[in-house]
This record gives sequence, structure tokens and C-alpha cells, in this order.
Amino acid sequence: MEPETLSELLSFDREHLWHPYTSMADPLPVYPVARAEGVWIELGDGRRLIDGMSSWWSAVHGYNHPALNAAAQAQLREMSHVMFGGFTHRPAVDLARRLLRLAPAGLEKIFYCDSGSVAVEVAVKMAMQYMYAQGTPQKNTLATIRSGYHGDTWHAMSVCDPVTGMHSLFSGRLPIQHFVPRPEVRFGAEWDERDFAPMAELLERHHDTLAAVILEPVVQGAGGMWFYHPEYLRRLREACDRYGVLLIADEIATGFGRTGRMFACEWAGITPDILCVGKALTGGYLSFAAVLATDRVAQTISAGDPSEFMHGPTFMGNPLACAVAGASLRLLEENSPLPRIAEIEALLGRLLAPARQWPQVADVRVLGAIGVVEMRRPVDMATLQRRFVEEGIWVRPFGRLVYLMPPFVIRDNELEALARGLLKVISEVE
Ligand SMILES: *Cc1c(COP(=O)(O)O)cnc(C)c1O
Repeated sequence: MEPETLSELLSFDREHLWHPYTSMADPLPVYPVARAEGVWIELGDGRRLIDGMSSWWSAVHGYNHPALNAAAQAQLREMSHVMFGGFTHRPAVDLARRLLRLAPAGLEKIFYCDSGSVAVEVAVKMAMQYMYAQGTPQKNTLATIRSGYHGDTWHAMSVCDPVTGMHSLFSGRLPIQHFVPRPEVRFGAEWDERDFAPMAELLERHHDTLAAVILEPVVQGAGGMWFYHPEYLRRLREACDRYGVLLIADEIATGFGRTGRMFACEWAGITPDILCVGKALTGGYLSFAAVLATDRVAQTISAGDPSEFMHGPTFMGNPLACAVAGASLRLLEENSPLPRIAEIEALLGRLLAPARQWPQVADVRVLGAIGVVEMRRPVDMATLQRRFVEEGIWVRPFGRLVYLMPPFVIRDNELEALARGLLKVISEVE
């Protein structure tokens, strides 16, 4: 990009464009991107950064991937969109076949929608309509664990952590849901039965008004980057069955290999009643999501009055998104990323370990292709961001969390450079 165009672009952006979670009056700085390829992001001034974020869990195959580009281009030649009401098409059906092959056994029915947050809304609506259809409409609240993140739309927000989700701002407007503390037994630690007690108690006490428990299995993402023991999910599955409460697994961040299994539910060997996927579904190309449900959920809703499931977004089943998602899942099926993710996990573990001894660091944890350095104090995002860019890496911390979730195609030397840059920058933090 030309230098004067670049500064014009930045000042127009600053004047008119809202970025995620920022003030319009005093926005955090943004960096113009010209292009991206593989794990490399090229800025407008020509600087190249190694991507540590996969654009928020999504670009698992890296940017500008030839197979995904080809799928998009081929689909463009046929049609980019056609309504899903009254029509269907090969990209939608092909993608569904692949999703059902990869997803935990027992999930049979698929609802396509626009984004992760909408998938959560759809999942919640399914749970509510299920309870209505089976004649228990009083079962209409949700339960969840603290420090979760489920998106920014209204119902999704109501089950985000009440503190980091800023519930106070919307108090009196958000639906009131039930919260229990997050599971404290770590992934890999010895299971302690007491960890499930608060959830067991909640279900026992409130099951007759509960439609569903919703949570992120094993890895909590944006709400705290926390990894908990899969046994919690097995206990939860049993308890939900006992009390006739549905289990919604939000795998929008964890789905498609990120935690070292294709789906995080596999760590516990459970099948949820409803499963949400998004983010990496299209390999990070387009906003698209899907809600998978068991046959029982679908049949119960369909036996109700009305028998229709009351949802149908305009861009439902968008062919372009389906085609790219199909190509992304094909890559995952034909060349499993799981062995490489195990190597990334081992390498990240070794590379980040030194920080564990540092006084400014509270914790270091790694699972699958996710590495987290939890600081003792909240970091100054703008300063750290600038320093990371100076070090040639793209890392976006929040609160006390500095973390990496690189594309699965990252090479060892790139991962080393990424971790080295990250450690260098946090070593400068007081
Ligand atoms: C990102 C995310 C969402 C929301 O997805 P959007 O596409 O941003 O609406 C929901 N749940 C989890 C676990 C996520 O990580």
C-alpha cells in the first residue's frame, strides 16, 4: 500500500469504523493488513508477522490456502447464494455428510446458520422448543459454568461469564440464568469428585425449571482460557440424563482439532444433545456455523405443535460458505491435523515452560495447539500489541492472558520464533 493511502486509510478507519470491544472516541490502534498467506500476515508497510491467533481460532489451515481458494472460486462460478427455503444444493449436502462423519456419534440433524453467536441462539431455541413440545414449557432457563464465553448476541451473552461479560451493564434486561463456579480440577490433574458438587446441587435443586446446561467442553476460550478435567463432562452428561435437562456443547472454539481431539467432547467420550460449531468450520474464510442435534431432539421438537423449528436466517446454508467449509473438512479428513497438533503441543510446552518461573507470570498451560501464559496483572494491550508487532509476531492478549493458538500448518521454526517473541515481550512486563 502507498504510504499516504495508508495513513488516509487509518484516519478514516479511526473516524468511522468500530472495532471489537473498543471505544469510538479513543480506539486502540489497529494495523492495516495487505495480505496473508500460510502463517504469515503482511502489513501495509510490508512488515511480515507470524500469526499466533488463527484470527480467533478460525484460520486452522493458514491463510490463502490453495484448496480453499479453489473451492470458493469453483462455487462462485456456479452461484454464491440461493435461499435455503425450498432449495437445497450439493455444497450443503456434501458438508453435512462430512460433518456427520467427524462429529461425535449420535448427532444426526444439522441446522446451518450465520455465525457462532447465532448458532448459540439456535441451540438455545432448540432446547426451549424441545421442552415446550414435550409439555414441560416451565423448563425454560439455562445453567452454565462461570468464565465461559458463548458470543455477543442476547441469549449467548446471558450465559457468558457475568463479570467479563459485563452483565451489570444490561442488568434487568438479560435473561437470568444459573451460574456455578467453573471446574477447578485441571486437565491432566487427578479428578476430585467435589469439583462437580456445585453443578450436581444446582441440577438437583432447579432441574424442573432448566431446559439445558450449556458450556464449552474442556477448554474455556475467551472467558478465561481455562482447561478443565473431562470427567466433569461425564458427570454432567449423567446428571443431565437423570434430570431430563439437555446438554449443549459449545465447540465453536474447540471444534476441528484445536484441543488435540477433533472435538473436545471426545476427551470425555460423551455426545451432547446439541453441539455448536463455527469459527474453524470454514477454515476461517467466511462467517458460518452449524448446530448439530440428536435425532431425539429433532423428533421431539417435530412432534410438538407447532412441529416446525422456528428459525430460518436469510443466508442459511449459503453455498459459498458450505463449499469452503466442505473443502476445509476434506483437508481435515484426508490429512488429519491431530498428529501435528500433538507435536505443536509438545513444542509449545517446552518453549513456554521457562516463563513459569518468572515473578510476573501466574501460570503457563498448554493443551493441543493452545498455549496460555497467565500473568499476575492485566497487561496493557496497546503496548504489548505494538511490541509483538515489533518482534514480528501477531498476538492479541486480553486481561491477564497472553496466549497462542497458531494455524495447524505452522512449522517448528515459526513456532519457535513465535514463542521466543512472546517470551521476550512478556519478560519486559513488570
Ligand atoms: C467465538 C465464540 C462464539 C461466538 O461466535 P461468533 O462467530 O463470534 O458469533 C461462541 N462461542 C464460543 C465458544 C466462541 O469461542
